[in-house]
Amino acid sequence: MSQTTIYSARNIITMNPNQPSVSHVAVREGKVLGAGSLEELAVWGDYVLDDRFADKVLMPGFVEGHAHTMEGTMWRNVYCGFFDRMDPNGKVWDGVKTISDMLDRLKEAEAKLTDPDAALPGWQLDPIYMDNVLVSRADLDSVSATRPIGVLHASGHIMNVNTKGLELAGLYKTGINHPGIPLGADGYPTGELRGPDAYMPVGEYVGFDRDVLGCDADGLRDFGKLCVRTGTTTITDLAARLNDEAVEMMLNVTGEADYPSRIVPLRHFMGSTPQDLIAHAKELRGKSTERLRLGMIKVVADGSIQGFSARLRWPGYHNGAQNGLWYITPDHLSEILNLALENDLHIHTHTNGDQATELVLDIMEEALRAHPSADHRYTLQHCQLADAAQFRRMKKLGMCVNLFANHHFYWGDEHYNLTVGPERALRMNACRTALDTGVPMAIHSDAPVTPLGPLFTAWCAVNRITASGRVQGEGEKISVADALYAITLGAAYTLKLDGEVGSIEVGKKADFAVLEDDPTAVDPAALKDVTVWGTVQGGRVFAAADL
Ligand SMILES: [Zn+2]
Repeated sequence: MSQTTIYSARNIITMNPNQPSVSHVAVREGKVLGAGSLEELAVWGDYVLDDRFADKVLMPGFVEGHAHTMEGTMWRNVYCGFFDRMDPNGKVWDGVKTISDMLDRLKEAEAKLTDPDAALPGWQLDPIYMDNVLVSRADLDSVSATRPIGVLHASGHIMNVNTKGLELAGLYKTGINHPGIPLGADGYPTGELRGPDAYMPVGEYVGFDRDVLGCDADGLRDFGKLCVRTGTTTITDLAARLNDEAVEMMLNVTGEADYPSRIVPLRHFMGSTPQDLIAHAKELRGKSTERLRLGMIKVVADGSIQGFSARLRWPGYHNGAQNGLWYITPDHLSEILNLALENDLHIHTHTNGDQATELVLDIMEEALRAHPSADHRYTLQHCQLADAAQFRRMKKLGMCVNLFANHHFYWGDEHYNLTVGPERALRMNACRTALDTGVPMAIHSDAPVTPLGPLFTAWCAVNRITASGRVQGEGEKISVADALYAITLGAAYTLKLDGEVGSIEVGKKADFAVLEDDPTAVDPAALKDVTVWGTVQGGRVFAAADL
């Protein structure tokens, strides 16, 4: 018979309403044998008492319902973000505050390259903090005119490249007619490539992976380190291409004995027909393992609000910018939703603007009429601008929502001042409305768009503070208890994993976030400062300090 380990802790927050707080948890075969007092657990027979967490607080391992494993690979590129940020090894990088800062950092990295033809990729640029100035190819040419350079924006929706990069990709020419490739006065591309459709073909020439949103084996390992450092034990890879090679790699890496997280990759609808997508998702579903859960689908309806590529309803962008881009045709969306319902496949759809949300709701309503489903849990991802009426429709349609709480901190001020204006900025990422309406809700980081860290995400939803320190949308604040639910059971529900993870109770995976403080006892304003010691995942212990 396999061994039983009983962990003691200062407090164990179970998320099980029958016994919200206990002192001990028993683990056997990677699962929770029971939670309760030592006396209650001792009846299961012989056990080893492990007191290493005696002064720690345990919570269910956090579930991140919207992230991208590319965060792991991104850290090999030059960090061009505005905010300070921790890498997988725990090093904190300073943010760059101006375009010229960014060019300096790129020049510094450029000087270290020995191969004259090597590409120079940067990531996490956010011009919205820099008066939204356009980074031209000439700016990047000042770093180097001879080697290709590309800088991916924080939103993941835009890339700036230099002239050499355009040249190598065959795009340094006049007469291009593509909505994602704006042209300068000289008729040549400005170097800004809007939307994955526009930048993907250039990415590999400027130093990104062939699939810019992809991740390799070492990147996936680094991603695992970030999971441990943030208490995350189940995490999505929300837009994966998942070709045979990638799946093989992910199966191998997540199968390594010390791989610390459960990865849920969603097959991204890109570069295939709806029929091929559905066939591929069905095939993937059969390959799932304990730590790699395959078979779900991700569809993207529009772009990003701060990149002005999201689709907004009337009256559109506050600063008069033209409406954004559709990333899918209504016909394709309809075909995919219908086929997925027919085949019992699970879909998450990215909508940022409220016009995109409306389109998905309309098509979903029609698809459900043809294919009724009692428990589909189709989830709107981001869904940042939805109004109350749209939440009521989601509820009626049986949909879930995963709101972008972090976004409110990072871009809330810009939304207020620039993109959507004061009134609509207040309702963005409407957690309170979602809960009041009864829409099952998660909250997320969209790492690498913003840093992974479910406790920080919870802090964002509870406090709704923007980067400048203003509270924006008092009425949409939620309680600490609601936020902790959202980063555990709430997110697990949107992935149909709530029967396995998200709470500490008998039969569930032994997945714990090990914390130095009690998130239910600290000042809600300090929720983000609770230190993560590490995790327990499937009964295996991972200390952040030992990574
Ligand atoms: Zn995303």
